[in-house]
Amino acid sequence: MKYYILFGPPGAGKGTQAKFIAEKYNLLHISTGDLLRKEMAAGTPLGLQAKQLIEGGNLVPDEVVVGMIQNTFKNNKDVSGFLLDGFPRTIAQAEKLDEMLAESSEKVDKVLSLVIKDETIFERLAKRALIEGRKDDADPATIQNRIDTYHAKTEPLIDYYKEAGNYCEIPGEQTIEEVFQSLCDVIG
Ligand code: ADP
Repeated sequence: MKYYILFGPPGAGKGTQAKFIAEKYNLLHISTGDLLRKEMAAGTPLGLQAKQLIEGGNLVPDEVVVGMIQNTFKNNKDVSGFLLDGFPRTIAQAEKLDEMLAESSEKVDKVLSLVIKDETIFERLAKRALIEGRKDDADPATIQNRIDTYHAKTEPLIDYYKEAGNYCEIPGEQTIEEVFQSLCDVIG
């Protein structure tokens, strides 16, 4: 089983690229953000808990997303690989993922990291707010909190995966087609 992580700050283009990559390489795309938004739309207890955190620009608890990932792995034993989008987002999540994979003597194959500047994050999320109507994109204070949370909690994963030796950086400020091509070059 292949395990790829699509990594990067909010607005880096993970969701856009994930669709193309999953199709080309026959991977199951798992977006924790999409899974959480489904729970919110269905009004489940988990969705209600997540809504407040997400709309404030905060992360949901590690156990919640780890549980969602575990369920998805368990229910999809027949796929050729997974493309993780938005997970892991903390060191604790990355450690838990490594533990889960180690149980079946597996590991993360590559971390595909899309790099963009903070100003670009702001511009892209503000634009996306008008198109997709996501509440967490609409408020500048929420966007700023997501950027701060990214730097504080998620960016440390870069060193974690550099040390593991599977970290690859791709410039995220090229056209969608160019980013896709760069990703394909890295995946090989
Ligand atoms: P983006 O990457 O554009 O911020 P996502 O759709 O990936 O958007 O995630 C939206 C929100 O869902 C995040 O801001 C966070 O609150 C929550 N979330 C998604 N994935 C995780 C995760 N792995 N750990 C904690 N919270 C998460």
